[in-house]
Amino acid sequence: MINADAIVVGAGLNGSWVAKELTSGGMRVALIDAGPVLPDSTFCIDRLQADVFNPRYHLFRLKLLLKGDTDNAFNKFITTQTSKLFLNRSREPYITPAGRDFAWLRVRAVGGRGHLWGRVMLRVSDNQLSAPGFEWPVRYADLAPYYSEIERLLEMGGAPSKMVEVPDGEYVHERALHPLEQVFCTAVERRWPLRRAAVNHVAEYEPAPLSPMLKAAHATGRLQLFPDKAVVALTTAGGATKITGVAAVCAKSGGVVTFRAPIVVLAASAFESVRILLNSRSEKFPNGVGNRNGLIGTRILEHMMVNFFGQLPASIRAKNPTYGHNPFKLNAEPHGFYMPPFSHRENPQSSYRFGYGVQGTISTDTGLIYLGAFGETVPSDSNRLRLDATNKDRFGIPLASIDFSWSAEDLAMWKDADRALSQMLEAFSSDSGIKLERPVTGKMYDMLMSNGPPVPGSNHECGGARMGLNPASSVVDPYNRLWEAPNVLVCDSACFPTIPCQNPTLTSMALAVRASRQLLADA
Ligand SMILES: Cc1cc2nc3c(=O)[nH]c(=O)nc-3n(C[C@H](O)[C@H](O)[C@H](O)COP(=O)(O)OP(=O)(O)OC[C@H]3O[C@@H](n4cnc5c(N)ncnc54)[C@H](O)[C@@H]3O)c2cc1C
Repeated sequence: MINADAIVVGAGLNGSWVAKELTSGGMRVALIDAGPVLPDSTFCIDRLQADVFNPRYHLFRLKLLLKGDTDNAFNKFITTQTSKLFLNRSREPYITPAGRDFAWLRVRAVGGRGHLWGRVMLRVSDNQLSAPGFEWPVRYADLAPYYSEIERLLEMGGAPSKMVEVPDGEYVHERALHPLEQVFCTAVERRWPLRRAAVNHVAEYEPAPLSPMLKAAHATGRLQLFPDKAVVALTTAGGATKITGVAAVCAKSGGVVTFRAPIVVLAASAFESVRILLNSRSEKFPNGVGNRNGLIGTRILEHMMVNFFGQLPASIRAKNPTYGHNPFKLNAEPHGFYMPPFSHRENPQSSYRFGYGVQGTISTDTGLIYLGAFGETVPSDSNRLRLDATNKDRFGIPLASIDFSWSAEDLAMWKDADRALSQMLEAFSSDSGIKLERPVTGKMYDMLMSNGPPVPGSNHECGGARMGLNPASSVVDPYNRLWEAPNVLVCDSACFPTIPCQNPTLTSMALAVRASRQLLADA
């Protein structure tokens, strides 16, 4: 049995922030992660050049496809190096209903998906936090100070946006548009004046086995890191309702390890935290801890994502790129743009409620043009994560059964976004005279996916333990505490009541820091 002042489950971006905050506030923290600490050699990027123009790179993706691993074959962030970090669905299964697939990309390692994320950190505005019928219990002013702290530690790059829809952050590094991005944005704005772009906001800290937060937590001397231990359930003592700790399975020996602390923070990523809560059943919590109202696992959320990848012609691609491809520091080039939602301003009668933002990069260095639309989808009670009744994973946790489908509004948005991206690309080609080529994987994607709606799975999954002001209609309170067991916090994006169109992690980290400070204040 291991004792601590607080247990944090999951050493990804969110759990690492909680560990940093609680150790800095004087607590002895046991930080438990199901995966190992990655060796330094993983981050040695000299030999990791993933050259998208090299046929071997495409052969690697084709092999994944032939093995039936479509999730990874079309994962734009995958390379021969990073593929080892993503869990393989055939070995680490989850269940989806026939005809309704969901791409759930998971990394099991200290650092989690924080090793591979695109590092885009956009603030969410009040407009989105107060969507009618789907209100958050927090507002921009509650999050702003924490946004700033996170941006500073993670060394955010950007430039003043001059747009109210894109709140400025703390820019530690300067970023600017690439001249070709400027051509793109001017071509677009000339035709559609409401489609205005800002320089994207991207974290620029150095990749390493331990994030800046974990290094800070270590420096306090109060962090005990337990890698390779998968938390299976929360524990109680003697039939009582108070949660006393967690039970974990050692990934190497298979033995059970118990941890005890007066505070337990779940940050194992949205769907994993939900899975742990649902699996924490006892006489007092027959449906799982915090689930008296049956809401845990409901309203899981994903972005509607539309991607386009093109290749710039060889004549303008750099022969010797200045910024080598580094899978652990994506968006390393000081460029990239963000266009906040414009569709409702262009057409107030749109048949869908929420909006989508567009992000993009055009680079002569990488030779690529990327455009991605991320859309806020309609929260729905029928989108749900349950535990499978019969099948368990290798740690003995029932498999996640993910039932998610797009609403009619989401599909209308997808069509609109798809059309808008094509129009904008045409405008760029027409004004620049640059004819785009499709890389082999792009052509493969078109061929296999036809023109149907995308399989959900943008890596931005949220929800399942939503926050609110009312215990009857939410799972956690405005400080991420389970209404039913307030010494348990859910500090990842499981707490999101909606999925604003911005990438979610800056907001989940801000909520995690805010909740940790409240814990310390209450202690
Ligand atoms: C390729 C890619 C690009 C992305 N780009 C962006 C972006 O640009 N901007 C953005 O905002 N977001 C982006 N994301 C999403 C972002 O990475 C996630 O939102 C973020 O990492 C979530 O952090 P987390 O700590 O909640 O979960 P994770 O990072 O997934 O970490 C969860 C941790 O919990 C551990 N764990 C899981 N189960 C257990 C268990 N049972 N017991 C103990 N430990 C457990 C895992 O090993 C892992 O370390 C991207 C994701 C990917 C994969």
